[in-house]
This record gives sequence, structure tokens and C-alpha cells, in this order.
Amino acid sequence: MKATPKVNGREMDYDGYFSGALSQLRQEGRYREFVEIERIAGRIPFAIWHSSEGPREVAIWCSNDYLGMGRHPKVIKAMIETASRMGTGAGGTRNIAGTNRPLVELERELADLHDKPAALVFTSGYVSNQSGISTIARLIPDSLILSDELNHNSMIEGIRQSGAEKRIWRHNDVTDLERLLTAAGDRPKLIVFESLYSMSGDVAPIKQICDAAERHGALTYCDEVHAVGMYGTRGSGVAGREKVMHRIDIVEGTLAKAFGCLGGYIAGSSNLIDAVRSFAPGFIFTTALPPPMCAAATAAIRHLKSSPWERARQKRSAARVKSALSAARLPILPTDTHIIPLMVGDPLKCKAASDLLLSEHDIYIQPINYPTVAKGTERLRITPTPHHGDELIADLAEALVDVWQWLALPFVPHQLAAERTSDFARAARPPSNLRGIEVLSRDL
Ligand code: PLP
Repeated sequence: MKATPKVNGREMDYDGYFSGALSQLRQEGRYREFVEIERIAGRIPFAIWHSSEGPREVAIWCSNDYLGMGRHPKVIKAMIETASRMGTGAGGTRNIAGTNRPLVELERELADLHDKPAALVFTSGYVSNQSGISTIARLIPDSLILSDELNHNSMIEGIRQSGAEKRIWRHNDVTDLERLLTAAGDRPKLIVFESLYSMSGDVAPIKQICDAAERHGALTYCDEVHAVGMYGTRGSGVAGREKVMHRIDIVEGTLAKAFGCLGGYIAGSSNLIDAVRSFAPGFIFTTALPPPMCAAATAAIRHLKSSPWERARQKRSAARVKSALSAARLPILPTDTHIIPLMVGDPLKCKAASDLLLSEHDIYIQPINYPTVAKGTERLRITPTPHHGDELIADLAEALVDVWQWLALPFVPHQLAAERTSDFARAARPPSNLRGIEVLSRDL
């Protein structure tokens, strides 16, 4: 055991700093406890929960593997085949030995997905934002970054590391953005925003942002992390769905959510991608993504480019969940997307609700507390996959009502709940083309 360090004879209680910080977190109800689970590949959305009393089967309702592609047979097969052929790791940074053929193929696939000349893969979406934004802004002298106030931490870190001046615009408020663009005058400007905000499930006014960018000669950087695979006829995201992809200069995405794998990327012009490749420390000095992971991601992207089944089924599940929870008078934020925030507004009750769902109802939904969301807006974030059927949805609504009553959490007034229920029930009706899609699903 190492002796306690001393300075001028005084014992330095370094460990005390850590335990002090942890007790502060516990007092505020923000201490993070991880639930140990083991996903069951052939039975989405089920997993084994390794509880203190032994293993138990639970239904997962909060995964960012939004479409279940992480357990899709084609994706698993691509990973196994590539690992058998090429081994597990990449063997080095991209410069040393890591530019493997599956990685080059993946970048081609991504460039095609977003209709851009080039793409560059990083080891995570986080790193792609941090390295991408910081490098792009550093390469443009005197640049000003305009950032939506709810941008993800990885974008904030990228902005910080760039050393560039920044202005924050009010969330999704193009008038405020326009005001800041006007005040910035003639200098080079980079607008950074997300297409879909993951904690509130709302969508950015991308067309209006592009209009403002064009009026003021600014570049646009759009994080589509929660939208890739999910929206647009080929799964390219919200910008693709809204036919404005060509107006976005840099698209950033992840391979870790709807594509069910790991890794992140940016796509843009050939010179921009080549410059980031040449100057970004977070790209240059780290081992490349392993070939089996690249092959699996490529299989997921290719599948979702041509298969509408997962997106259509997910949309139906989400609408049905929204309708069921509204009918039960539970306080969901009404969104048009696949993300369903259920508001709690108290960190301790949010954690307690999650614990009760797991221990009493075999349902796993992790609590979302500060700093992920603002204090007082704590929530459960529900993300139904295409594989959450009607029986599971009914079980979820029943379990949540039980937990809401147990914790004396507020329900929505009857009138408002009735209005929301009928809106969502309309959206939950199978689209006229779903019969064809159901047939397609059997071929998978
Ligand atoms: N961007 C946004 C908006 C995110 O929410 C996240 C993570 O959840 C990331 C980037 C980071 O992506 P990854 O999980 O691939 O590191």
C-alpha cells in the first residue's frame, strides 16, 4: 500500500477530494448507478439484468440502438466474417497501419449516404464533433462560431478547443441567430447545431438556418447523430428528409445509435475532409476503428438505405406509445420524433421511478438528471424500437401509472390528455403501404 503523500509534514488527503465530490453528487440525487445488463441478440428488446439477487429478464425501453440494428443478423454476420478474415483490432492509427479496406469502404458508403464528396470516420461521434469543430474553426482565421444553446457537450468541447470566439443563440430561434449573424459583420462564421435534440425530441428549423447562413455567408455544421438511419427515404437524417442536405456544409453523425455499432464521422467537401484528416489530433493520434466494426456499420447503413421496414415500424411503435401514455394521463412532451420524454421534474423521484420500474415491473428506463438536462426538468426518456409490440406497450403504460401513483407524481388534466391521445392515435394507424412493409420484414 502506498504511503499517504505529505507536503511539509502535512498529510495530503487526495482521496478526500474524490469522496467529497461523490457525496455531493449523492446528496443532490445525481450519483450515477449503472445497471448491468446483457442484451439477448435474437430477442429485441429483452435483456438479462444481473441484479444483486441474481439474473432476471427485463424489457429495455431506453436504448439508442433505435432500430435494433446492433442485433440484426446481417450486421452481426458482417462483423463475425470480417473478424475471422482480418482479426479484431485495426493495428494502429490511420497513418501507421489502420487504414483498412473496410474503413475506406465505410467512408465511401457514408459520403454516398449524405451525397457529399467525402467522409471521414472517427472512433466515436463525440470525437468527431470535438475534433471536427475544433479543427475546422482553427483552420479559418478570425472565425466566429454560432452555437445553439442546447448543443451536445461534444460540440461545446469542440468549440472550446478551437479557441475561436463564440456566440450562443437561443434554442432553435432563427431570429436570435440572425441577430447575432448581423452583429458579426464580415468575419468568417460557422453555425453549429443539431438536427434533432435527443433529450427533448424536437427538430431544428434547418431550412431557415440555411437561409440565414446564406444571407450572411456562414458555413453550416449539422449534428445528425440522433437522426441518421431514422429519417429520409435512405436514412440520411432530417436534412435528407427535408431535401436540404446540399445546403449543409458539414454533416456529422454516429455509427453507434440507429446503425447499432460504434464510431462517428463527418461528411463534406473533399478539401474540408482532407484538411481535417491532415490536422485533427483526435483523428491523427488514435488507433483507427477496427475492421469488423467498420464492416458491421457498412452492413447496417446499406440495409437501412434500402429497407423502409425498420423506420416505418419504429414510427408506428412510437405513435402507439405516445397514444397509450397520453391516454393514461402521463406527462409526455408531445414530439414528432422517435424520442418520448416523460417529465418527472425531480432528480430523486426520477431515480426512484427508474428503480421501481426495474425492480417491480422488469422494465429498464434510465433516469435523465442534471447535467444531461437542466435542473427541474429531470425525465425518463423512452425510445421504442420497431420490436416493441402492443403487449409491451400496454405493460409499459400500466407500470408507469403504478409508479406515478406510488411516487405521488402529477398526472396530466383529463381534457389535455384526451386531445393528445386522439392526435397520437391518428398517427399510430398503420400507413396504407404498411402491408407491403410487413411482407418485406419476413424476408429479413
Ligand atoms: N452528438 C450528440 C447530439 C449526441 O447526443 C451524442 C451522444 O449521445 C454524440 C454526439 C456523441 O456520439 P457517440 O455516442 O457516437 O460518441
